[in-house]
Order: sequence, then C-alpha cells, then structure tokens
Amino acid sequence: MPLPGRPAGTLAIVGIGPGSRDQMTARALKVIAGADMIIGNDTYLAQLEPLLVGKKVITSTMGQEVERATTAIKLARTHRVAMISGGDAGVYGMAGIVLEVLEHAGLDVPVEVVPGVTAANAAASRVGSPLSGDFAVISLSDLLTPLEVIEQRLEAVFSVGIPVVLYNPKSRGRPHNFLRAVAIARKYLGGDTPVALVKNAYRQGEEIIITTLGGIEAHDRSVDMHTTVIIGGAESRIWRRGADVKGIITPRGYQRKYIY
Ligand code: SAH
Repeated sequence: MPLPGRPAGTLAIVGIGPGSRDQMTARALKVIAGADMIIGNDTYLAQLEPLLVGKKVITSTMGQEVERATTAIKLARTHRVAMISGGDAGVYGMAGIVLEVLEHAGLDVPVEVVPGVTAANAAASRVGSPLSGDFAVISLSDLLTPLEVIEQRLEAVFSVGIPVVLYNPKSRGRPHNFLRAVAIARKYLGGDTPVALVKNAYRQGEEIIITTLGGIEAHDRSVDMHTTVIIGGAESRIWRRGADVKGIITPRGYQRKYIY
C-alpha cells in the first residue's frame, strides 16, 4: 500500500536494446510486462507490439523529449509507467532528461533506469571484437552540443589512438559532420585503419560494411541516422578467416605476454 501523500505510481525508463527481442534484457521484459502505461516513440513501440496488449500506450514523435518526460512524470503519480528508450536508456537516451525534470518537479515517484544493449556494443558484436580495450563514444549530432565542442572531443579521442564509435553520424540538416569527423581521424591514423559501418544492427534492414579510413568516401552514402560507425584505433586490424574479411579485431595485448 502506498503511504498517504506518496505517489502510488512508479516510473521506469527502459532501454530495449538495438531492435530484436532477443537482445532485450530479462529485466526490461519484466518491467514492461508489469507496467500499465507505456510511453515511447512509434518506431520503438512497433518493435514491442505483442508486449503492449492490454496496456495504455502513448506514442510520441522524435524531438519532443522534454514534453514526453513531463507527461511521463505526471502519469507516474498514479500509474506504473514504462518509458521506452532505444539501446541503453542512459546513452543519448531518455533517462537523463527524465531524471532532470523529475528533480526539478521535486516529486517522490519511485524511479528505475533499466539498462539495455547500446548501439556501440550491438554494432561491435556484428563485426568481431573492435572494442576489446579502451574506446570512446562520440555523437555527431549537433542539436544539443555545438559542432566546435564535438570537433574538440574528436581531436582528443583520435589523438590517443583508441577506437572511436560514432553515434548519430549524420544529423538532420548537417550531412557533412561525418566526413568532418573522418578528416580529423586522418590527422592521427593511417589510411589502412579498419572502419565498420553497421546499419540497423539486430533489426530489419541490417547492413554491414567493413572498409578503411582511406576508402570511406566510397561508402559515404550508406551512412545515415540508423548507422553506427566504428573507427579502429592504432592497433585495430582486419579480422580474416582464410581469404574472407570477417570484421575487425583490436588486440587487447595478450599477444605481448603469451604465445598462442
Ligand atoms: N540510446 C541509444 C542511442 C540513441 S542515439 C543506444 O544506446 O543505442 C541514435 C543513434 O544510435 C543512431 O543515429 C545510430 O548511430 C545509433 N543506433 C541506435 N540503434 C542502432 C542500431 N540498431 N544499429 C545501428 N546503429 C544504431
């Protein structure tokens, strides 16, 4: 029983992974099953269709994150609300903004952030093991972060030679951010550095291209908002099986200590 004066509802911000049901966590499935109200944008909700039977569903569109957060919090006073976020809810997802709005509202609603497989991990798993050690993640979307700041961050991470994962490689209205990032990478890395373009990982329309930093222009048109780009680091190399290119390996360093 809720205490008098305390909200009766709960709020969960649920990361649902890259797209397929198999990649959702058991906790995400359980929290969605236990919710009576589900909020999310239409692409994600379509993915969850069979899980939504008998629940109130509120569909929102991209770009209305603050409004969505406010609505979710209002409803969570009296309902068990699950707000759906793609990948991980805390990585360029809804968790941050919901917690900020909640803090500002001063509401005592029980809240849970449910983690999910983020695009970096999903994409990496499709091309072998390009992120075996330290790596960095940068979003090229300049909707909330100025382009100069993004460029400074790119300089910093490429300069230390670790693999870099690019989210939102092409923003709406800014189609050139991706090739600007590539130009910065080339200041620090050789043209034979392996690169993976992973589009729609674990969902319909999946497409994987393995190329190099020197050969990337030829594939520029394949890069869009549904693509995660992995630019290898100084030690990354192509992973082959016989003559076939299978993906990318970034050795973690075992080869320096062991014979195998
Ligand atoms: N919260 C999400 C990221 C949202 S930002 C997560 O943790 O994965 C949106 C960007 O994520 C897209 O532009 C794309 O770069 C990447 N992305 C999300 N899902 C993807 C998928 N299934 N395949 C490839 N990239 C994906």
